[in-house]
Amino acid sequence: MSLTLAIVGRPNVGKSTLFNRLVGKRLALVDDQPGVTRDLREGEGRLGDLRFTVIDTAGLEDATDDSLQGRMRRLTERAVDMADVCLFMIDARTGVTPTDEMFADILRKRSKHVILAANKAEGAAADAGVLEAYGLGLGEPIRLSGEHGEGMTDLYAALMPLADEMADKAAEDAPETDVDLPEGAEDQGETPAITSAKPLQVAVVGRPNAGKSTLINKILGEDRLLTGPEAGITRDAISLRIDWNGTPMRIFDTAGMRKKAKVQEKLEKLSVSDGLRAVKFAEVVVVLLDAAIPFEQQDLRIADLAEREGRAVVVAVNKWDVEEHKQEKLRELKEAFERLLPQLRGAPLVTVSAKTGRGLDRLHDAILRAYDVWNRRVPTAALNRWLTGMLEQHPPPAPQGRRIKLRYMTQAKTRPPGFVVMCSHPDKMPASYTRYLVNGLRDDFDMPGTPIRLTLRGQG
Ligand code: GDP
Ligand code: GDP
Repeated sequence: MSLTLAIVGRPNVGKSTLFNRLVGKRLALVDDQPGVTRDLREGEGRLGDLRFTVIDTAGLEDATDDSLQGRMRRLTERAVDMADVCLFMIDARTGVTPTDEMFADILRKRSKHVILAANKAEGAAADAGVLEAYGLGLGEPIRLSGEHGEGMTDLYAALMPLADEMADKAAEDAPETDVDLPEGAEDQGETPAITSAKPLQVAVVGRPNAGKSTLINKILGEDRLLTGPEAGITRDAISLRIDWNGTPMRIFDTAGMRKKAKVQEKLEKLSVSDGLRAVKFAEVVVVLLDAAIPFEQQDLRIADLAEREGRAVVVAVNKWDVEEHKQEKLRELKEAFERLLPQLRGAPLVTVSAKTGRGLDRLHDAILRAYDVWNRRVPTAALNRWLTGMLEQHPPPAPQGRRIKLRYMTQAKTRPPGFVVMCSHPDKMPASYTRYLVNGLRDDFDMPGTPIRLTLRGQG
């Protein structure tokens, strides 16, 4: 069972262009049964290692203005019902129009999963439109340029968990047999899922030569990066579905992709966009450092990026096999970590050797723990008891003689944990007091190494 994606949106936003990019020439046969309209095109889409069915709802340009709204609505509803997920496209150059709002309405009511895409987003002319798209209430828009192939990795990252979910469902429904692929059979990317748990999304990032490929190869236990799933139309989307010590994971790897493309890019600096892509994809980001040159500018930048994007972070120090003064070095590393990355306080620091495999089990466990913390939910009652204690211990400041009152708090979200505190004069709260609360949350509820968001909200 494969995923079905419907591309919906008003005429001219670029649906067909994206459809053609995803499907290429792999068009499905046209359904010639009488009574079946040809308004919907269907094809086999590919994106990286993902295979799925794409439905395009274009082909309405001939309609007269009068009938357009109605036809568009009916066609879209039909596509939405056929699909597992809808890619709702707006034109970022035009911005959000009333017709877009109408579509958003249909989708909110009718579709199980919606991916919002702001298309034609190449260049700054689209910035305003992308921002407007947030206002549709359908989540964060993906910046896309169907014509130029930009944003495909983000699309991939949005589709991939859904595709995994479908594959797992299919595996649950299917009888439990182990399928052995004949030797040399093409890796189709999705092996039948052994377990129904959603694979944990992990990115291994770090400067060139830190040992990313070596690490991933070691985890795989074979040199699969060189022979892994073929590169699809996207040059950059690459992830590997593996079971590491029995944990289903998807590992996003930039280094492997480059090697596979046989491009001499190893000397090239890890670009911000590479890092950003990997970080966006991930739930847990493993920042891999070279023990000989740890915490370089690039390492710090990517670790900070991961924090700002709200990902769980594990720092792994590689090439520990060649380190001679291990105790002393470890002390230095911990000190540097605290000093240079205070925003990641408490994140696990694991020493490994990708070459020998030492420390990899600890890395595995650290990833699971970081993921667990990232997902943690603190009950409201416990939070408010805790808040009372914190306020007594260290009362909030009283700017201009009026004490800021913190009344109530709750955890609004997880992944990463986000808290909301109701208070008077939130704008007057000094950052130091917010920090006091965040650090307290981290220590008292045992949430090391995850970004923690704290929002102050005024009342009335
Ligand atoms: P549809 O009616 O939604 O299927 O839209 P089309 O795919 O036919 O595209 C409408 C117009 O927008 C065409 O002229 C495309 O060349 C153009 N277009 C599509 N995608 C992009 C894009 O990413 N950037 C820009 N600048 N133009 C695009
Ligand atoms: P990448 O650019 O981050 O993918 O780095 P590579 O995996 O290509 O590794 C760069 C170099 O470091 C290679 O020569 C590896 O053999 C070496 N290397 C990687 N991991 C280790 C390790 O744990 N110990 C030692 N001694 N060398 C390593």
